[in-house]
Amino acid sequence: MRRILEPGQIEAFAQRDIPRLRLPERTRVFSARAERLRGLGARGAIGESIGDYLHLIACIAEAQQRALTSSKARPPTPEQIAQARTFRMPLLQASSWAREDSWRRALAHLCDSVSALADVPASVRQACDRLLQMPREHLEARADALLGSRTEDIDVVTAPFIMAALQVHWVDLATTVAVEDVADLDVRGVCPLCGTSPVASIVRAEAPYHGLRYLHCALCSTEWHLVRVTCSHCMSTKGISYQSIEGAGESVRAECCDSCRTYRKIVYQEKDSLVEPVADDLASLQLDVLLGEAGYQRANGNPMLWQR
Ligand SMILES: [Zn+2]
Ligand SMILES: [Zn+2]
Repeated sequence: MRRILEPGQIEAFAQRDIPRLRLPERTRVFSARAERLRGLGARGAIGESIGDYLHLIACIAEAQQRALTSSKARPPTPEQIAQARTFRMPLLQASSWAREDSWRRALAHLCDSVSALADVPASVRQACDRLLQMPREHLEARADALLGSRTEDIDVVTAPFIMAALQVHWVDLATTVAVEDVADLDVRGVCPLCGTSPVASIVRAEAPYHGLRYLHCALCSTEWHLVRVTCSHCMSTKGISYQSIEGAGESVRAECCDSCRTYRKIVYQEKDSLVEPVADDLASLQLDVLLGEAGYQRANGNPMLWQR
């Protein structure tokens, strides 16, 4: 008798042939996000205030791409690579990596770019001014709080800017390493490169990733493979269900887990080739409202939207 395998089992059997990691594309990681945010904002299905927010984050993403183009991080040393592999630790551990000053230059570029926009709200311009004048130690302390997820120390207005600058630095770093430099971690729920939680996951449509699901790092945009129909928070494969907004298409769904009662969104390239995890997560807040009402919690927030 022939055994019929479920898609998840087929993936598990083929595990050796699956590209386990997808490093960010330096030339377009933030510009693709900006384009997607603009596309989603223009759809009109979203309320006006979220449309304005998507516009702001799109402007930040464009500035991120420019900042990335002009920055050049020091790659990790062979000793650091060897040590991370030996101890199966994230090579560029966000909470302990010695950040270079270039992240603060990126921050200044982001703030200058947003301040220069004609239609920026006064509160946002004030936040940019505050950041531009903030002493170095304060900025570093704020970055530490964000990377250490110490939510009580986070200022929600300036946090998206600081996070955006840190993303530039970590994508810069991530594009200096090779896939072979990155160790597999025992923990599947955090980025193997920087140890940060994923913002959402993506089922890719293009070769060699066709039909495979990857978790997308909220900080460095590295993607790592996780078998489909698995909770990305507690790794349960039982009691997983998918929710979407009626009439909003099938390109964004929430993968809900009945074991831990959390969810993360999952976006599908085969339904819409332009999906981008950070952008699509941000633009589908309606789905978060629905799931909150159904008693599920977000596994973690969006890096560009901080709440207390
Ligand atoms: Zn990462
Ligand atoms: Zn779970």
